[in-house]
Amino acid sequence: MSKWEENVRKVVPYVPGEQPRQEGMIKLNTNENPYPPSARAAKVLQAFEEDTLRLYPDPTAAELVNAIADTYQVNPEQVFVGVGSDDVLAMAFMTFFNSGKPILFPDITYSFYDVWAEEFRIPYERIALDEEFQIVPEQYFAENHPNGGIVFPNPNAPTGVELPLDAIESILQHNPDVAVIVDEAYVDFGAVSALPLLEKYENLLVVQTTSKSRSLAGMRIGYAIGNEKMIRYLNDVKYSFNSYTMNQITIAVGAAVFRDREYFQETVAKVVETREWAKEEFTRLGFSFGDSKANFIFVTHKAIPAKEIFQALREQHIYVRYFDKPRIDNYLRITVGTREQMQVLFDFLESYLNQER
Ligand SMILES: *Cc1c(COP(=O)(O)O)cnc(C)c1O
Repeated sequence: MSKWEENVRKVVPYVPGEQPRQEGMIKLNTNENPYPPSARAAKVLQAFEEDTLRLYPDPTAAELVNAIADTYQVNPEQVFVGVGSDDVLAMAFMTFFNSGKPILFPDITYSFYDVWAEEFRIPYERIALDEEFQIVPEQYFAENHPNGGIVFPNPNAPTGVELPLDAIESILQHNPDVAVIVDEAYVDFGAVSALPLLEKYENLLVVQTTSKSRSLAGMRIGYAIGNEKMIRYLNDVKYSFNSYTMNQITIAVGAAVFRDREYFQETVAKVVETREWAKEEFTRLGFSFGDSKANFIFVTHKAIPAKEIFQALREQHIYVRYFDKPRIDNYLRITVGTREQMQVLFDFLESYLNQER
């Protein structure tokens, strides 16, 4: 190692799911929405006047912030926006987790949390899920686990399991002195949002994204909703980094997509319907899984190791996600695609699982 390298901030980066580009592939590995975004996105793009690109965008992204505030019936001062919820979460870690005490998150969860903690030198502790992959709320109470903050997804990833609202509230009741971040990337697919708790707890931050339920993963729009004070602290940190994270096109497309509520509800309903049918099919084929409230199902098979199934699917250009990690290395996380895509998956699994071994 050269001398200068000793002073490099070294990080082990997060590894996102692969993005193969093959014609006819079935991509069920990164929880994207199988349906296109609202037609209003195309309208905005077509009408966009490129001359305005000379100018810097609105640093407050007011048009987008207002559309989000209207959607959730909150004040615009309660809304923070960023480049995907990954950006929002990273900013939130930097802003709120500075006590020197370890932050807490589940042992099986979104694998970006420990990466940010390492990057920002935030000590952390992983709290084990129970045997059913459930979060045990008492384990997060400050008197049981002194901590510098809490973060977890609801529903959890990659399990899809929901934590009920009263359990979330109990965690807040027992942690008045730290920020509690609920990452609701998948909440629109049937879990209960923690947003109503904002009225009672000023240290709660709810983070959501347009990447899954609103079919805009390629646009990169995430947002946080919280108490005005929290949002001001977040914006102070963001503007100290880069005042213009949200570009003009993103702001305009995002705002239009939030205003199309009907299409949003339709698409989410289709995904949920396909998910419930897929659960029956997985059961019929000998898989078991927790009761997912997300747009993916985390399955394990009674006889065939997950890694083998993963490889066999890959050869068919059916991409799912496999995590070679303790406790979950016999599971596959399978995104809910269209009914047709899922049928192809089940047809293949049916013949694959029935072949002689
Ligand atoms: C997908 C996901 C995110 C981030 O998504 P963005 O595309 O950055 O908005 C955050 N948290 C969890 C748990 C996710 O699964």
